[in-house]
Formats: sequence, C-alpha cells, structure tokens
Amino acid sequence: MPARRRSRACAAPIATAAPLDERERRERTPPWLRRWFDSRSEDRAAGSSNDVDWLRCLPFLAMHIAALGVFWTGWSPVALAVAAASFLVRMFAITGFYHRYFSHRAFRTSRAFQALMAFVGGCAAQRDPMWWASHHAQHHSHSDAPGDPHSPSLSGFLGSHAGWFMTGEGFLTRSRFVRDWARFPELRLLNRFDWVPPLVFAALVYLAGWILERWQPQLGTNGPQMLAWGFFASTVCLYHATFTINSLAHGWGHRRFATGDDSRNNWLLALLTLGEGWHNNHHHYPGAARQGFYWWELDITYYVLLSLQRLGLVWNLRTVPEHALARNRVDSPAAGGSR
Ligand SMILES: [Zn+2]
Ligand SMILES: [Zn+2]
Repeated sequence: MPARRRSRACAAPIATAAPLDERERRERTPPWLRRWFDSRSEDRAAGSSNDVDWLRCLPFLAMHIAALGVFWTGWSPVALAVAAASFLVRMFAITGFYHRYFSHRAFRTSRAFQALMAFVGGCAAQRDPMWWASHHAQHHSHSDAPGDPHSPSLSGFLGSHAGWFMTGEGFLTRSRFVRDWARFPELRLLNRFDWVPPLVFAALVYLAGWILERWQPQLGTNGPQMLAWGFFASTVCLYHATFTINSLAHGWGHRRFATGDDSRNNWLLALLTLGEGWHNNHHHYPGAARQGFYWWELDITYYVLLSLQRLGLVWNLRTVPEHALARNRVDSPAAGGSR
C-alpha cells in the first residue's frame, strides 16, 4: 500500500496516556534512565531548555569513546570492508529515506519497504524517522532565521553540527510536523524505542565477527574487532558526515540559486554524503528526489533510488521542473547546460 494511502483505523496521537501499571513501573525507574530507553519519557519541562543535557547525551558520547576500540582490537581487511559497507548502506537509508522520503516525500513506496528502511535508518543511531523529519521540517521552515534548530550563522559551527540535538529541546519530537507519519504504529514504536535498531545492528555485526573467527580464521577478525570497526567507528563517521550538511553546507561552497538562506553546493560534501552536498539546489527545490540537478553533480542516493524504482520497490520519484531550474539563478542559467 502506498505510504500516503493508509487506513484511518490506525490513526492515533504520538503520545497516549500510559496504563496505570506501566505508569507505576515507570515511576520506580529513575527519570534519567527512563529517558535513554523510552522517548515517551522525555522531560517536557527540560524540553524547553537550550542547554546541553550531558546526562542524556552520554550514549552519544560513549559511541565516540567506543570507536577508539579500533586501536585495541587491531584491524583486518574484512573488518574495514564491513565498516565501509555499514557506512554506505546506513548513509543511504538516512539520505534516501529519512531525508528525501520521510522529510520531503520525494517518492512513494510500500508500507513494508517504508518500515524496513525506517529500521535500517534507525541503525545509524540518529534517532527515528519521525524525530529526524520533524526537526528537518523546522529547519526548512526557518532556514538560517530565528527558529532554525541548526543554523551555523545563528549558533556557530559546533551548535549547528552537534550541539543543537544535545539540548533538552533537541531531544523532543516536534510532533506537529509529522502527524501523517504518526498514523503508522510501527513508526510510533520506532519513535518511542529508537535505541532498538542500533542495538540489534551492533549485535549482528558482533555475531558476524564471531562466526568468521570460528569458520574463516584466516580472515583475522573476531567479534570485538568487527564491532569496533563495523559499528562504533562506522557510526561515528556516519554521524559527522551527516552533520556536515547542517554545519558546513550552510556556508562552504557555491550558490546557484537565491534561496534566502546560506545553503551552498559543495561537491566534497556531496561525495561524503551520497549526494546531500548539493544543498543549495535542495533548498531551492526541496521536494525533488534528485539533489544533483545536472549530470556532473554526483548524487549517488538518486542513482540508488532509480535502481530501486526499476526493481519496483519505490515509485513516483519527483523531478525538478525546467521552470524551477531557471528561477532565482544567481549564476547564468545558460551555465546549467544539459542535464
Ligand atoms: Zn539546510
Ligand atoms: Zn531537506
């Protein structure tokens, strides 16, 4: 069933009152611990704070410390290959699905594939699609103006790169932007328990290393090594590559369109993020499945989406109309040439 053609029967608000026994159990758990494991417990009072909530951020900080495990476990070609594959697949789930699908509805897909890619994106440990899309919608509605959660001109490089989601305010899902997605119980579940996909993924990566150590010992890997490279180091690289679009892509690069914000096109960031670095293009026409508007603007996410379309897994990829390409140019439209 296409994502937007869903039943009214599954409509429900994001947060509902918990049953009494559940409330009692929750009250026995310290609030700081509860918030790590159940985002329904996010403190609405703390949510008005723009101060960094260091205790809540401990899992994010611990990921960086765990990535240093690569110096302890050593390396092997297979562990590096798994780390690269783990980076690429999860980056695509973030760019293709968290961003272009859940945030901008740039194409359509089935409910099953939507759920699968929501889970794969969740393995990137960047929370769930509803949290991600809700903050991104806020970014597009206030780009580089008061109200933008991560503008480098307003909150500096560090604030726009990572500081913005480390605050009480940053941890809350801005539910008014994602009411459509809240109708899917599986997405609400991921929104509530966003730590599950990364944990499952980490366990699978460890298991792969453990199996290879026993059955293919000549490969020189093991569970801890595979976990350090394929999950912790890969996830930290994935974090900071993704975050560059909020920090560096709003200042570093060139402008093709007058978008009223500081967004830039940057080929290096596009390479690093599978196409998201064409950020000035994106702010000019956010609804397109394609962010590299010309053939020389490498947009790997778009090519993967085209392949998925051929397989029948996604459809109705939205394109950039010719009139949009010619509008608000700050360079010469003729410089665009053939697409
Ligand atoms: Zn932006
Ligand atoms: Zn966007």
